[in-house]
Amino acid sequence: MEAVNPATGEEVETYETQTEEDVDDALDRATDAFDEWRARPLREREELLEAAGDVLRENKREYAETMTREMGKPITQAVSEVEKCAWACDHYAEHASAYLQPEHHPSPSGSTVKTVYEPIGPVLAVMPWNFPFWQVFRFAAPYVTAGNVGLLKHASNVPGCAKAIEDVFREAGYPEDVFQSLLIPSDLVDDIVEDDRVRAATLTGSGPAGRAVAATAGENLKKTVLELGGSDPYVVLDDADLDAAVETGAWARNQNGGQSCIAAKRFVVHEAVYDDFLDRFVEEIDSYVVGDPMDEETDVGPQAKPSLMDELHEQVEESVEAGANVALGGEPMDREGAFYPPTVLTDVPEGCPADTEEVFGPVATVYEVSDEEEAVEKANDTQFGLGASVWTEDRERGERLARQINAGCVYVNQLVKSDPRVPFGGVKESGYGRELSEVGIKEFLNEKTVWVE
Ligand code: NDP
Repeated sequence: MEAVNPATGEEVETYETQTEEDVDDALDRATDAFDEWRARPLREREELLEAAGDVLRENKREYAETMTREMGKPITQAVSEVEKCAWACDHYAEHASAYLQPEHHPSPSGSTVKTVYEPIGPVLAVMPWNFPFWQVFRFAAPYVTAGNVGLLKHASNVPGCAKAIEDVFREAGYPEDVFQSLLIPSDLVDDIVEDDRVRAATLTGSGPAGRAVAATAGENLKKTVLELGGSDPYVVLDDADLDAAVETGAWARNQNGGQSCIAAKRFVVHEAVYDDFLDRFVEEIDSYVVGDPMDEETDVGPQAKPSLMDELHEQVEESVEAGANVALGGEPMDREGAFYPPTVLTDVPEGCPADTEEVFGPVATVYEVSDEEEAVEKANDTQFGLGASVWTEDRERGERLARQINAGCVYVNQLVKSDPRVPFGGVKESGYGRELSEVGIKEFLNEKTVWVE
């Protein structure tokens, strides 16, 4: 398994891919580890998670550089990502006990009825490269603390991150095999999902990958949580604070090289402010520093893989052929590495790729709408339903619109973000199930009713 630096095209390191026999052995070890791990008091599991947070903070520069080398994330954003992982560890170290308190139910006099929360066993996580630490900690911090054991199949282009994450748990003092990274190609995933020793699976990534894992899990009656793509609308109403809407919107589209499921992708702007918004939006985005992701000054690095950049450019070209107008960018940069410039498209015709598909890179589409009703219609005109953002100075109006948008979360006067304290996940083709918060930690547990007469 070869890690290649997308900023230079140079090989970072080559790792030996694990075989089917290695996987079989890993599953045996996960099963043994589970027996011991589930029996540990929850308080001890919380303390180990707290230690994992400390390990992350102590080594944040090193982990950030591993990410930047393997997938091109600008270094300052990589450091923030490690800090956010530590925050998720702190959060569950502090709150897991409260989240997992038995719940008492009304019951006939003389009997006690409650729900207790018990772990189910090894859980497989198939994870993507775009937030190579965060996506994994979002899985591991709650589910492993709840008493499950974790098996990670990370994306093939970030093997160094996969190994580094395994090391975080080791250094924090976790028992061996409570968290294992499997360096395997995706064609071994089906067998793992089918295996009796694995009790559930979660995947963050594309629709086809999610469907494949969910189909096999369904055949085997195993639960899945899927966090798939998004084409999040960013609605700017006539009474929005334009300074804030422009600055936040530009960043919401371009941070992480635009490679985020919850990035603002379709900008739906009221006609009363459209021209003003567009001018300032283009100017703001044009001011970003695109370049070496190891440079602290860089805002936008390369795309994570050359193939992804090619696919992104195809989406832009097809949309332009269909009639879209390029207000900024639009051609791969004439330099070494997978660099695509921040791009803005307007007059985007209905049905073209930039209108209907997930655009996983720094390409914004801007639409003009004549009123609130049309704004909601455009916001909902997508197969996806992950997040949405609405901008208005009238908080009640914002909340009213939030209720009309079909998405897993709507943020008013804020960009969409994941936060350990609140549930995260989508509807429609963005997937199902929720991660984070109390809801997330309970996804892979046996919610057992205990009735004592
Ligand atoms: P994939 O969905 O292909 O990869 C994500 C993870 O799934 C990787 O670990 C991958 O392994 C694995 N995987 C891929 N196919 C299968 C399969 N059939 N069965 C089991 N596991 C599988 O994403 P890509 O990297 O190819 O990116 C393509 C597009 O997916 C992006 O342009 C974007 O639209 C979307 N995406 C969405 C993300 C999100 O955050 N929701 C994150 C990443 C991508 P391997 O690397 O070995 O193929």
